[in-house]
Amino acid sequence: MTTLSTFTIQTRARNEWLNITASVQKIIAASGVNEGICVVFVPHTTAAVTVNENADPDVPRDMLTALEAISPDRADFRHAEGNSAAHAKTSLVGPSVTLIVSGVRPLLGTWQGIWFTEFDGPRTRTVHVRVLGE
Ligand code: ZN
Repeated sequence: MTTLSTFTIQTRARNEWLNITASVQKIIAASGVNEGICVVFVPHTTAAVTVNENADPDVPRDMLTALEAISPDRADFRHAEGNSAAHAKTSLVGPSVTLIVSGVRPLLGTWQGIWFTEFDGPRTRTVHVRVLGE
């Protein structure tokens, strides 16, 4: 069995991490898949998706600080849109995560959550979720 679901997110800041764990869990629950794989894919070049700590809100904040330190705006960037720092952060985080589905749930660690990461907001964003299994 396989399903493809798409949902949108309205981001509110230039740089922002949004917890999408509950949205992905609902899609898996509705898919009818008990055991399988879930791929979460973000079809954007200045937004990404990752799995990281879901307990302390200072962690996503500190991740934004760390990514800003790795990829700040630079005067020698040439891309005319002016958002090369966001493109770089997006490639560092990546466009997708693959999750194991077990017992109709994503098999996440105790402290893990699924995070949509905005680097050039605010924008309306899209997330695709493929659930595959039996
Ligand atoms: Zn650009």
